[in-house]
Amino acid sequence: MRIVLLGPPGSGKGTQAALLKDRIKVPHISTGDLLRSAVADETPLGRQARSFMDRGELVPDELVLGLIEERLGAADVQPGFILDGYPRNLAQARALDELLERLEQPVEKALELRVDEEQIIQRLARRAEEEGRSDDTEEVVRNRLKVYREQTAPVSEHYREHGLLAEIDGIGSIEDINQRLADALG
Ligand code: ADP
Repeated sequence: MRIVLLGPPGSGKGTQAALLKDRIKVPHISTGDLLRSAVADETPLGRQARSFMDRGELVPDELVLGLIEERLGAADVQPGFILDGYPRNLAQARALDELLERLEQPVEKALELRVDEEQIIQRLARRAEEEGRSDDTEEVVRNRLKVYREQTAPVSEHYREHGLLAEIDGIGSIEDINQRLADALG
């Protein structure tokens, strides 16, 4: 099963993807995680990506596309994937369509976790205290939400137009939300 997971920062995409991958036995691919590990390893890509991430801006499309192309070409992706954090704008959505068309492995479902902004700001403030992620400060969180509204929200429409979108209520217990996601996959 080839799945794209959509939703604002703090909507629980990472948590849900980690559970879902065990249910459906496909790898969880998070561009945020791939980028954070490139930053930690101080690779050339990580060095370029870092300042964008620290400001809550999107890392330039061509950098992320290279990363995702490499990851989707790996052998463990044969049974499918859960993509988390990609695509994040319409250009990325189109680039992904092209890439997957070439690989003859189109997206089968786009799951969007819906959580209101007030709830998100609370969740991310808590995560900032617990995990200390450098882009969870209030100012950067506000910018990430703005970037989401302006650039990423239209990606849902892209998948809706292709008849692939399912919207999931992202409020509730982790288990309940995971069940809703699994139900949406049919
Ligand atoms: P969140 O969804 O909570 O914002 P992520 O871990 O998905 O967290 O992303 C963290 C940061 O990594 C983003 O703010 C952005 O700078 C960068 N990033 C992740 N995925 C992409 C992407 N597809 N395109 C551009 N930048 C990305």
